[in-house]
Amino acid sequence: MDDKPVALVTGANKGIGLQIAKDLAAHGFTVLVGSRNLKRGEAAAKTVGVNARALELDVTNQASITAAAERIRSELGRLDVLVNNAGISHAGKPGRPLQEMVKAGRASVASLDEVRAVFETNVFGVIAVTQAMLPFLRTSPAGRIVNVSSSSGSLTLNSEPTNPHRAMFGVGYSPSKTALNAVTLAFALELESTRIKVNAACPGFTATDLNNFAGTRTVEQGAQQAVRLALLGPDGPTGTLSDDNGPVPW
Ligand code: NAP
Repeated sequence: MDDKPVALVTGANKGIGLQIAKDLAAHGFTVLVGSRNLKRGEAAAKTVGVNARALELDVTNQASITAAAERIRSELGRLDVLVNNAGISHAGKPGRPLQEMVKAGRASVASLDEVRAVFETNVFGVIAVTQAMLPFLRTSPAGRIVNVSSSSGSLTLNSEPTNPHRAMFGVGYSPSKTALNAVTLAFALELESTRIKVNAACPGFTATDLNNFAGTRTVEQGAQQAVRLALLGPDGPTGTLSDDNGPVPW
């Protein structure tokens, strides 16, 4: 087993995940750049540097998850940080403008197939990947799980009439993040008596493919909160949702 801590970031071939991978490599981790397309993962890993390697991983495919865990076991023998970052905002045509995404996600008209696809990646994928990686994290001296979620899933904030973003709360993406917040809490509660800390990070509205680059924050800013939670010390919290401004209500 290597002395260097190992981190896996899912969906790290671009966007916020790629930046999280770069930041964790800069903090001394060997970083596994998760990518459902190996070639894209390899190209991204090169931009992270010598401490990164691509790991083929489709979070919606159990065989892919099992194979990734097996590669970690045989090639590295450890995993200290898992960042569940992979996510989709919709399952329509790539490049869909943000307003169209919001319209297609409205409760009265959303396609159930699309809602299912979004939950498959953003929620069930996180449960499956976390279950597969937990045996490694349990033996780590400082196991950390960070789920890249969103304050758009906060029921408290969306119940607030003065919140200007609540018009975007449909039945797809935002509730998938509400469910991810619940999943975060479920793992945190079960693992409370272990060294593992489980937290959710909101990157803020960041310019990436996810929102057709309508976001106003850079990926460097978007990665910050997830990286902070990945590096928490032994006295750090577990079972929280936060952004750069501090705790976010569930
Ligand atoms: P992005 O640039 O579109 O990146 C999403 C990543 O997830 C890509 O690498 C994508 O891979 C990957 N992915 C999608 N489905 C996957 C699957 N089945 N298996 C493995 N990887 C998969 O978007 P981003 O903004 O960086 O999003 C990263 C995370 O931040 C997401 O969880 C998102 O919900 C969250 N977030 C983003 C914002 C924002 O404003 N951007 C705000 C709040 C939360 P491909 O290249 O193969 O598609």
